[in-house]
Amino acid sequence: MVSQALVLEAVKASLSWWRGKQDFMKSYRIAVIGGDGIGPEVTAEALKVARAAGSKFGFNMETTDYPWSADHYLKTGELMPDSALDEYRDHDAVLLGALGDPRLEPGLIERAVVAGCRFGLDLYVNHRPIKLFAEHLSPVKGATPETVNFEVVRENTEDMYVNSFAFFKKGTVDEVATQELILTYKGTERVIRYAFELAMKREKKKLTVVDKANAMRAYDLWRRVFEQLGSEFPEVERNYLYVDACTMAMVENPAQFEVVVAPNMFGDIVTDLGATLQGGIGGAASANIHPGVCGMFEPVHGSAPDIAGKHLANPVAAVASAGLMFEFLGEFEAAKAIENAIGNALTTKKIPSLGSDTGMNTAEIGDLLAGLLTA
Ligand code: ATP
Repeated sequence: MVSQALVLEAVKASLSWWRGKQDFMKSYRIAVIGGDGIGPEVTAEALKVARAAGSKFGFNMETTDYPWSADHYLKTGELMPDSALDEYRDHDAVLLGALGDPRLEPGLIERAVVAGCRFGLDLYVNHRPIKLFAEHLSPVKGATPETVNFEVVRENTEDMYVNSFAFFKKGTVDEVATQELILTYKGTERVIRYAFELAMKREKKKLTVVDKANAMRAYDLWRRVFEQLGSEFPEVERNYLYVDACTMAMVENPAQFEVVVAPNMFGDIVTDLGATLQGGIGGAASANIHPGVCGMFEPVHGSAPDIAGKHLANPVAAVASAGLMFEFLGEFEAAKAIENAIGNALTTKKIPSLGSDTGMNTAEIGDLLAGLLTA
């Protein structure tokens, strides 16, 4: 008979082995901003699935919660202080839910937090994969997983978003409003270079540049830089589309796209169209990155006040954003496993849609994805 002392020793040994393994395991520091409305609900599920991926692939996540939200602002008057940016820089990534609340001036909290991170951390790439997992998800006739599988690189810190605007004679019938479009050589070069490098990683190496250089002459800089960099990447086929033609092509012939690079404003528009192509904003994920430095990962959707608190939010986009975060952190197996779990759940209709009409609650979808990942 095994003595109690021996059993105790064995338990102690395995506990210390486990602790040692934990100490040895890689650990990532993640800043978490749940935000408003459905933001905290979908972020909880993204973290659930992310932790499941960590256990499977051998890494930990240490999270720091940040309170920035409309509720926090209404209670304290605080938006997001600049000191938070320094704290994020001490983390490996920021995971964000969603911001926006009808009780506040439109855009106030989004500008403070989302734009605050993008500009404050100089996250010049907004990387948005457009991938249709199953034909039944897309409202666009003829869209299939074979034809809808591309990536959009949206410039994230310039263009009409630099917030250089003015009102003259405001509130009178003589009012004049202006807003400037600002492009820099440096800002244009770095994002187009990122897009070329991304195109090089794809089986079919093709990069489509989107602008409106015919009507808005400032975009001539964008085109010239595209041409200049093109000669550094001769294997990449170059394609040119004005933004209006691009929106038509995305619906009529999405198979022509591999990687698309667009200035901030047009990128915002074509990526929303891309989200519809892939089945709706409930499934669209995004990465805001400064390659090699830091990143903020968020679903494309807003705070959806109409369904907040009802457990109807679809967390697929938030989970997919955590997948993009792992890709950025170099945890490629974890990123792929998340993509596969989402693909499996959608193609088999275990998750029947990317909206709020799945017949499942938010946590059930998270549980399902975590289960598929660890199965
Ligand atoms: P914003 O200006 O922040 O984009 P919005 O209200 O225009 O806000 P969303 O908050 O994204 O945009 O909501 C648009 C619609 O999509 C709403 O009807 C919302 O319920 C729905 N929706 C958004 N995200 C989800 C989600 N994750 N799951 C289910 N439905 C969603």
